[in-house]
Amino acid sequence: MSAPAGGSRPFLNRRLAAFGTTIFAEMSALATATGSINLGQGFPDTDGPAEIAEAAVRAIRDGRGNQYPPGPGVPELRLAIAEHQRRFYGLSYDPDTEVLVTAGATEAIAAALLALLEPGDEVIALEPYYDSYAACIAMAGAVRVPLTLRAPDFRLDADALRAAVTPRTRLLLLNTPHNPTGTVLTPAELAAVAELAIERDLLVVTDEVYEHLVFDGSHVPLASLPGMRERTVTISSAGKTFSFTGWKVGWITAPPALVSAVRSTKQFLTYVSSGPFQHAIAEALALPDSFYETFRADHLAKRDLLADGLAAAGFEVFRPQGTYFITTDITPLGEKDGLAFCRALPTRCGVVAIPNQVFYDDRSAGAPQVRWAFCKRDEVLREAVARLGRL
Ligand SMILES: *Cc1c(COP(=O)(O)O)cnc(C)c1O
Repeated sequence: MSAPAGGSRPFLNRRLAAFGTTIFAEMSALATATGSINLGQGFPDTDGPAEIAEAAVRAIRDGRGNQYPPGPGVPELRLAIAEHQRRFYGLSYDPDTEVLVTAGATEAIAAALLALLEPGDEVIALEPYYDSYAACIAMAGAVRVPLTLRAPDFRLDADALRAAVTPRTRLLLLNTPHNPTGTVLTPAELAAVAELAIERDLLVVTDEVYEHLVFDGSHVPLASLPGMRERTVTISSAGKTFSFTGWKVGWITAPPALVSAVRSTKQFLTYVSSGPFQHAIAEALALPDSFYETFRADHLAKRDLLADGLAAAGFEVFRPQGTYFITTDITPLGEKDGLAFCRALPTRCGVVAIPNQVFYDDRSAGAPQVRWAFCKRDEVLREAVARLGRL
């Protein structure tokens, strides 16, 4: 046998070797193998508005976006994004210099972190982390510093945040509404973040993809706080809001110098993406208020359906203020380890969920927590609840 190519050195570089494959691949494979209801990965099981799907078809037929669209995104979409920020939050962004379209929020996160960080910079991020944050920080050669959200209420601890800042801190990476805990940062928490960011001259990247799924009160973008617009990169995406997660249309809004830096990175990642879908999402963003209100009300009802079912099945339920996930604690069921529980659950009762501990550096903080997605048809949620009732 010949020696492996490249000698004995591992193929995957040291920065990423620790990450392995994501929990979603493992759990979705389990769901398929066992025919289970998949409440693991967060994607809707119903497509978004038919007229928006039609708009995408029309764009393809009309030859809009079939060839490389402009690097910053098609002008119609950049304008629609700027209008959305004004309509919902009173924020004004110049569509030509302050908006950048990306391949989903995922690319926006990667491009922002790769653009804004030098190796050795410290990034403070809310833990449990969204899947890609730790890997993107590692790709940038930077150092992640967790700010742990702890059960039962998963609040941001402003004193712990202040204590986490060092002379090497460059950036705060926030997510509100927060996946997986469902926490929505309060005005007081946002104000504490803003005060510290201004005092220590930090950049902030804020992932707000669930901006239209806030159940109590309404979403407050961090960029809307005094002194924050100039230091904040706001990320959002069409995937969650319009139930087209496969289209991968995301964006950032930020001041020109920050957009320019992120664009410099983005141009060498995907260059451009999703041409015809960009045109369709421009139409989606302009949907009337009734669309956004119905979307929120539907998901609020789904949240309560699943939360009540999980409580009846014996879980401790942390009812989320936003997102489409519910975090539970399995301790009342006599269980301790969410990972073992989730691996066994498909054979025990035909349902798949995600163990939160994989999103923590401090695994003990998330050990008994399990996350359930409720962005599913009501009959699917009802069947899942019936199955969980047999536990
Ligand atoms: C789903 C999700 C993303 C990724 O969004 P895409 O537009 O699909 O790339 C980013 N951040 C959070 C918190 C998410 O839940």
